[in-house]
Amino acid sequence: MDLLRELKNMPITLHLLQSTRVGMSVNALRKQSSDEELIALAKSLIKSWKKLLDVSDGKSRNQGRGTPLPTSSSKDASRTTDLSCKKPDPPRTPSTPRITTFPQVPITCDAVRNKCREMLTLALQTDHDHVAVGVNCEHLSSQIEECIFLDVGNADMKYKNRVRSRISNLKDAKNPGLRRNVLCGAITPQQIAVMTSEEMASDELKEIRKAMTKEAIREHQMARTGGTQTDLFTCNKCRKKNCTYTQVQTRSSDEPMTTYVVCNECGNRWKFC
Ligand SMILES: [Zn+2]
Repeated sequence: MDLLRELKNMPITLHLLQSTRVGMSVNALRKQSSDEELIALAKSLIKSWKKLLDVSDGKSRNQGRGTPLPTSSSKDASRTTDLSCKKPDPPRTPSTPRITTFPQVPITCDAVRNKCREMLTLALQTDHDHVAVGVNCEHLSSQIEECIFLDVGNADMKYKNRVRSRISNLKDAKNPGLRRNVLCGAITPQQIAVMTSEEMASDELKEIRKAMTKEAIREHQMARTGGTQTDLFTCNKCRKKNCTYTQVQTRSSDEPMTTYVVCNECGNRWKFC
């Protein structure tokens, strides 16, 4: 309510509406709220902002009235269309410096890049978390794609791999936290664009990775010390009795040692306590 009241007292311009898409945010808030006072205030805000659009409609007939806050037809967007490698200028709003504005997303005519934006949008829409957050996934995915494109510098293999890994992590059912953080802005488009798989991974996966790293270190140590060759163990893959084993104190010293075994015939590895 405080924020809505603050918005009501702000001098809002058409440009501000288009660059921040605040109308969409307020409308999403209105739809989700059951607070009558809030709904009424949101409605009155939207109504007063629509008037700004109607005035601009009178000036330029080609701006569709059905889409409340067109970005593609705004001057800024069309200016940056051909300069997709340059970051768009932040909207000039000197009178209201406290508003955090999203940068305009330049339109691209590149089919590959548009396809990537589409796929990123679908990934962001997984499980419909975006509905609760009230975010425009097309807009957000365009920003993410733009950041990836700017970081990589072209739309070749590295770019495609980067997009692909973002998509699989955003869709990951075991990692809804990542998607929600991106949707609500806790992770910015700039951040998700350059995050490593490690950074994107779910906590569960992070634990597994950590354990795997420990395992790899132990195996490395075993390879270095050579281990002891023995015919005591039978490999369950090739049924031969030609193995090397090493015993390691993995936990506290009063617990039994862990025995790591490698089959010298087929490379099969296992361990037991
Ligand atoms: Zn074997």
